[in-house]
Order: sequence, then C-alpha cells, then structure tokens
Amino acid sequence: MRKVSVAVPVPFLDLLTYRVPDGMPIPAVGARVRVPVGTRILTGCIVEYPSNAPGELKDVIEVLDQEPLLPADVVALCRWVADYYLAGVGDAIGAAMPPGAKRKATSFKTMRVATLTTLGSDTASGGETQGLTAKQRQALDVLSGSSTGLPLAELRDRGISTDVVGRLAARGLVLLRAEATERDPFERAAMADVKPSESRVLTAEQIAAFEQLAALVDTRDFRVALLHGVTGSGKTEIYLRLADRVRKAGRQTLLMVPEIALTPSVAALFRGAFGDRVAIQHSGLSDGERHDQWHRIRRGDVDVVVGTRSAVFAPLTRVGVIVVDEEHDTSYKQEEAPRYHGRDVAIVRGREEKALVVLGSATPSMESYQHALSGKYAKATLERRVLDRPLASVRLVNMREEYADQGPEVVISRALASAIEERLQRHEQVLVLLNRRGYSTAVFCRQCGDSFECPNCTISLTVHTARQGWRAQCHYCNYSMTVPKTCRKCAAPYLEHVGFGTEKVEQHLRDRFPTARIGRIDRDSVRRKGALASLLSRFAAGELDVLVGTQMIAKGHDFPQVTLVGVISADVGLGVADFRAGERTFQLLTQVAGRAGRGERLGEAVVQTLYPEHYSIQLACRQDYAAFFEREVAFRRGMRYPPLVALVNVVVRGRTFEEAMGTANDVVQRLKPSIASGGFIILGPAPAPLVRLRGEHRVQFFLKGAKRAEMRNALKAMLTEMPDVRRRMTIDVDPLNVL
Ligand code: ADP
Ligand code: ZN
Repeated sequence: MRKVSVAVPVPFLDLLTYRVPDGMPIPAVGARVRVPVGTRILTGCIVEYPSNAPGELKDVIEVLDQEPLLPADVVALCRWVADYYLAGVGDAIGAAMPPGAKRKATSFKTMRVATLTTLGSDTASGGETQGLTAKQRQALDVLSGSSTGLPLAELRDRGISTDVVGRLAARGLVLLRAEATERDPFERAAMADVKPSESRVLTAEQIAAFEQLAALVDTRDFRVALLHGVTGSGKTEIYLRLADRVRKAGRQTLLMVPEIALTPSVAALFRGAFGDRVAIQHSGLSDGERHDQWHRIRRGDVDVVVGTRSAVFAPLTRVGVIVVDEEHDTSYKQEEAPRYHGRDVAIVRGREEKALVVLGSATPSMESYQHALSGKYAKATLERRVLDRPLASVRLVNMREEYADQGPEVVISRALASAIEERLQRHEQVLVLLNRRGYSTAVFCRQCGDSFECPNCTISLTVHTARQGWRAQCHYCNYSMTVPKTCRKCAAPYLEHVGFGTEKVEQHLRDRFPTARIGRIDRDSVRRKGALASLLSRFAAGELDVLVGTQMIAKGHDFPQVTLVGVISADVGLGVADFRAGERTFQLLTQVAGRAGRGERLGEAVVQTLYPEHYSIQLACRQDYAAFFEREVAFRRGMRYPPLVALVNVVVRGRTFEEAMGTANDVVQRLKPSIASGGFIILGPAPAPLVRLRGEHRVQFFLKGAKRAEMRNALKAMLTEMPDVRRRMTIDVDPLNVL
C-alpha cells in the first residue's frame, strides 16, 4: 500500500490522500511531507495509511523527516480534537506543531564562539605580544582560561567587544566558529527564592492527599482526580512530589497552568527541584525559544513540562501524570479554531497514555465537581491553609448605602479607604481588583444623547487615558478614535463619562493616597514585553504598596505581605447575559480573597457590591464552595444548562443581518430531521448578543441535549451536505463564552 493520508494547514480541510512514488520510503505517522494542494505546495503531516482511496492520486513530493516529528499518540490526540470540536484535522495538528515546522529544516539559533588558535595560546602564554592593544591582550588572557572557548556574548559581558575579537581573528590568534545553542527562557523568568522541597514538612492534610494521589499514579492506569484545596492550602507542593514520584518510575509530568507569565514562581519552583530536566511551553516565549524547548521535549531530555493550554500537545512519550492547575480557569479554552478546552483534552490524553490526571482548584468548575461527587473522578481535599493560617475574613460594603450617603461618584468606599490607610501605615501590601479595564466604559453627550459606539461592532467604546489625550477604543476589533472636547453631533461641551475601569481606580487611589507606591496590571499596562514580570517582581520585592488590576491579579499569586484585598465592584460579571455569571463571580471573588493573608499576618477582603444579597457574593464571602455548588447545580438543573446537559453554540456570519439569518434558518432546517431521533433540541436562531462584530452581522443558535455524539453527528452530516456554509460559521462545542 503506497498511499498516505495527510493533514495540511488549511482551515476546515479534511485529510487528503496521496500516493508515495516508487523508490520513496513510506513515511511514518507523524512525519512531515511536502504535498501539492491546489496550485500550492504545502507542508503536511502523515496521519494514517488509508485502506482504500479514490482513483487518481497526486504524489507526495518530498519526505521531510526520517523520524516522525510528532509522536503517534499526539497525532491521535489531534484527531480526537478535530472530531470532537468539529475542527479541521490540519488545524488541530497545527496546534501541536512547533514553531517553524512548516519550513523544511528546523532551525536552532547559532552563537559565535571564540577559541584560541595554537598561535594564540602561545602568544597568551608569554609569547610575543607586541603590537597588541591592552584590550587584545586581556582577551587572549581570558580565552586562555577556557579550553572550549567562550561565546562572544559572554566576552562582551566581560568588557571585550566583538571588534577586539575580530581583530585577533584577523591576526590568526583566535578562531571563530558557529555553535548551535538553546535559548533558555528561564534566564528571563524571575527565579523565586526556591527552598528545596525535601526540606519542607508537609501538613497532615497534604500528606493524606499526596498519598491518595500517589497510590493512583502507581497503578499506571488512567484515572482523573479532583484536588479540591482552599487557597493557600499548598497544592503546588503536592504537584512537586507527584512529579518526583513519577520521575523515579521513569515517567514524565505535564503541568498545565492558566498563564505562566502571571505565576512565574510555579515554573521557577519546578526548575529549582528538577533543574534542566524541566521544559516550559507558552505563547509568551519567542518562536525560537518555543522551538528549542519543543525539541528538548521531543528528544526526551526532560522529565517535566510546565505550560499553558497548548502544552497539552507537548511531544512527551512517557506521560505518567498530567496536572491541570486552577482547572476552572477559562483561559484553558481556546477561542479560535480549534476551539478546544485544554483541561478536557488533558483528560483524553491521560486516558490514551494510562496516566493520572489531577485537576486542582479551590473553586472547581461545576463540571469537574459534579464528576467528583458522582464518583467518576477520585477526590482529594485540602480544607485548611498550611500552618493553619486562617482564610481571609470578608467584609461586604453595600454600595447603594454608600451612594446614598456619599453621592454617586464614589469609587472607593469609606470602609475600603480606611482599610487601605491602615495597611499603608503598617507597611503591608494591598491588592485592588476591578475586572474591567480602561478609564470609563462609555461617553455620551448630555445635550443630545449621542454616544460613542464602535462602527464595526454593537458595543460602546471604552475610554483610555493616554499621554496624547483621551482615546476611545473597541475591545473587540481595536477600532479607536480620539475623544473630542465637544459633541460631534451638536457641539455641546457636555460629554459625560459613565462606568469606570482600572485606570480610573488607579487615579482615585493616587489622589487619595499621594505617597503610596501604586502599580496597575491589566492588558493595557502590560502590553510591553517584560512589563508584567517587572510589575510582579517589584510588588514581590515590596517596591510597590498597592497593585490595582483586573482578574490578572486574582490568579494563583503567592504574595505573603498582602493583608488586604479590595474589590471595587463584585457585580461586573453578574450583568452579563451568561448562565455561568454566578459561577464566574463566585470563583473570582473566592480566588481574589484567597490572595490575602498568605503570610504570617491575618488577611482581610473588603468587597463593594450593589447586590449584597446575591448568593454568589454571599457564599464567596463565606468561602463555602459546597453550598455554592448545591445552589448553582439546582439552578442549572431547573434551566437545563450544563453540566446537566451539553451545549453546542453555532454562530452564522453574514454581510447583512438578513443574509446571516437566512443561512442560519437553512442550516436549522437541515438539522431538524435529526432532532426527532437525536435526543437534542435547537434553540434559535436569534441575533447573537454581539449582533455586529468586526463589521459582520451575527446570528446564533444552540444545540442542547444529553448526548454530544448525536449533536456532533447531525452537524457533521449537515456540513457534508452544505460544505460552503463552513466558512461563514463558527461551531463551538462546550462553549464558555457565548457573546
Ligand atoms: P495553593 O496553590 O493551594 O493556593 P500554594 O501551593 O501556593 O497554595 O502554597 C501556599 C503557600 O504555602 C506557599 O507560600 C507555599 O510555599 C507554602 N507552603 C506549602 N506547603 C507548606 C508546608 N507544608 N509548610 C509550610 N509552608 C508551606
Ligand atoms: Zn469594534
């Protein structure tokens, strides 16, 4: 059989079949080949050997890899992703490929290394140095101390310029050669002050949880375990020991985290424990760094991979445990094709590789907790913080009363202001959360009511403060304009800003506490490379007193000097038309309160809200996860929402609303016959909440039912019959975001 099925990086395309010409060795699954696609020649990946294929086949042009680039298990995982999420196989395989894989040869960065020639060493050891400058003599001296030579970069660090070395090379005293080098992303990462983990005594709870998980990992069978541990209960320590256990058994650990840039200390801890047997994988690395790390993993040079969602495809071949830390975090869901959920793919990978999958969180997703209750997942629990530190106490501030007393302009309530004041006096640190960026969320004219909407999207523009003046910007398509002084329509000078975001909170804090050192973390303030790392490390070093920011400051940080967390508005997420609003609010508040009191001093959270009675807010204050789950699951059951049923969201785009609605109706008509037999229903079509986005009109509908496979099959059958709607349609299986 000289035929191969190839995945190519073209959106939505299925596998293509090619003939392997005589004389060319049949490439292995996972190897890259060059194949003709239409008028182009593309690099694809071998996925399988088809048993039968239609008549005329084009030939494979070239085989790029002798050894498969992707392990066969990873290819299989990608096929599962393509099938489950209704994405193209090429899209899924693309997510698993290292950067630069589309090029022929993989590229390692080269560095220039200088060594002494024989003449050079003679000269250095007391030979004729006349005619050499002092710098040149110094260079010879330094180089004579190293038998393998020194990279030019290192010489530069020692004050010897490349020019000097170049002149020595011209005289035949120094030889320059190029050497492959590996870029080490840890060099840039803030290295935490790492205590070797052996020296730490685990708490009784930690020991019990570890032993429970270790027993599961030792079986070498597939199992999922939920590690439900309150904030500050020491989950990371358990991950470290599991990784160690697995390493000693000759297997590997995949540790997934939401965003490495936000919690560089976790990577640093693993680096401290496992040295250079750790690789790191996330989108913040340069292509070159990602490439080098990927190949280290592929060569089997590492025992541990720490990475974000795409690391679920890391080319490991002996996985023993996969840890998904903060498993509830929405950043595990990819919001572009292939729209996979990193946690769910991790579970599938664990099943394929007979590994233990540990889902860790203080606020598990409804889905995971449901499975832990039903016994489908094992459950380990950490109910207390390490060293019996108490959880932060939470105080609610009713903002309706505050507005009545202090007027509608209040941003920071009296209670929060005095709590901050106290911490500043005691030289303790404060986090202030508002999960909304920008200065104000809308501007309108008080005379004619004109407001600034995005011309491309149905959304009002967010105002940002900038050095050049005020700018209004769309957070979806990036359209932006300067905010004029007077109304564009009626020229009245009464433009009013409504709603506020982190920039305004920062300004209020600065006005109120002029001597405090204040930093801000949100997507706008950390755009520059290195800005985030610098803000986090300055805060950790005590060079900042107050850090204000979006949910980015709520995630997993361990700052022992923080004794107060202020929440400017707990209600930001509650207004969203999303059945998960209550869950998100509970998670965010519990997590952010969990950042306080992690050191020796007691922590407190002050939470401002307009809805102090709301169950998400009440139960987050009590940090009572079990009660929240009961309450929320009853609501989901009543409304027939996940996790009790499954959802698929389909968005149809068009140049006009009528066109989008027309297509959506056609698609729904085509799906209707499957409903009777398929055990699911269709809701809609209806205008999407963001009915216009980036200039396109959007109509959406949902498939809702108990059996995903049947919904998937109905959609697949529809796509086969109506292939041209594919490009105007987004299918999201298990959607998290339905705007
Ligand atoms: P979690 O991820 O559960 O919120 P962490 O793993 O960040 O908690 O641990 C919280 C803090 O407690 C960290 O500073 C960690 O170094 C420390 N810690 C963990 N285990 C112990 C222990 N057994 N004894 C003392 N300190 C510990
Ligand atoms: Zn827009």
